[in-house]
Amino acid sequence: MQPRRTGPVSIPSSALRRLRDDRLAAVADKITNGERLGAREAQACLETHDLAGLGSLALAVRSALYGTRAFYVANLHLNYTNVCGNRCAFCAFHRDAGAPDAYTLTPEEAARTVRESPVPGLCEVHVVGGCHPELPFEYYTALLRALKAQRPGLGLKAFTAVEVQHMADRAGLTVAQCLRELKAAGLSAMPGGGAEIFSLRLHRDLFPSKIDGDRWLSIHGEAHALGIRSNATMLFGHRETVQERARHLLRLRDQQDRTGGFQAFIALPFHPENTPMAHLPGPSGVEILKTIATARLVLDNVPHIKAYWVMLGLKLTQVALSFGADDLEGTIVRERIAHQAGARTAPGLSLEELAHLVREAGFEPVRRDTYHREVAEAEEAA
Ligand code: SF4
Repeated sequence: MQPRRTGPVSIPSSALRRLRDDRLAAVADKITNGERLGAREAQACLETHDLAGLGSLALAVRSALYGTRAFYVANLHLNYTNVCGNRCAFCAFHRDAGAPDAYTLTPEEAARTVRESPVPGLCEVHVVGGCHPELPFEYYTALLRALKAQRPGLGLKAFTAVEVQHMADRAGLTVAQCLRELKAAGLSAMPGGGAEIFSLRLHRDLFPSKIDGDRWLSIHGEAHALGIRSNATMLFGHRETVQERARHLLRLRDQQDRTGGFQAFIALPFHPENTPMAHLPGPSGVEILKTIATARLVLDNVPHIKAYWVMLGLKLTQVALSFGADDLEGTIVRERIAHQAGARTAPGLSLEELAHLVREAGFEPVRRDTYHREVAEAEEAA
């Protein structure tokens, strides 16, 4: 059981006086009394037109947990293959095997990207890729070992639940067997991708070839039981309803109550470019901020709420720090997945640029590692 991180939080009376939405006043009452928000309150937060009021509640909770600190990591995103047969409707990254721009890195090529990384004090590699129909299980363990060999202290946050299920199916292993082997090969934590939106309706329509929400949650539960921490995500701003968004957050909170291994939640705004849903506009800035703030208020047992700068853009990322987010992800260096879908941000940021973003937004930059432990600059430079 994961203890709740937020007990009663006092909200400045000036903020309470300025609330313009009665439903938010009810949310504020629950927060100040240390009560959990339910589906009705989650929906009220997502639907409110009082953006500033919602932000003030999320900021109060964020400040109670972390003051003005905002976290980020010196990391590298590594997408080892773009070959995938799943053809999810929101994905601009996957390619069929044999396509002219299909690629798969060998473990040695992947290791070289770490060796040649321009990030000083690199302390994490985030490893995700497509569900390649041919790669043997030994490829994934060799990949982790090759990365770890570059720098033994490196945190390897690797393979979504979707990839883990795929490699287990191909190898004839259970998910638990697979996770144990990956952990032995150097896996530190799992990323949160592949959750998409917990809706059977949308699973059937948009991503029927990959695992559904029940399976995604149970794989993360198995990882937590093995001592592997993970992140959680929600892809929003496509065809889901507000009720489905609220239910997704509540299901993550329930899972965290049971197994307690989620470190961070990331709300991923849908980027439509180059996808079969290119006719959709994607979520507005207001919707993004409301979703991040709602996550902070509903997910009272998940320590960190990320503002993923790649998908938010730098300006909205700075604002999100005042709407409940406390973490910016990291330097990343070469992001491919969101950029294939039209993200306009740089492929990576330097540590100095991240610190500047944080300071300019009125917060204090703090470097962290894969387990969200604070890292002294001297250690990072080692
Ligand atoms: S989202 Fe992932 S599983 Fe779906 S098609 Fe893209 S790479 Fe494959």
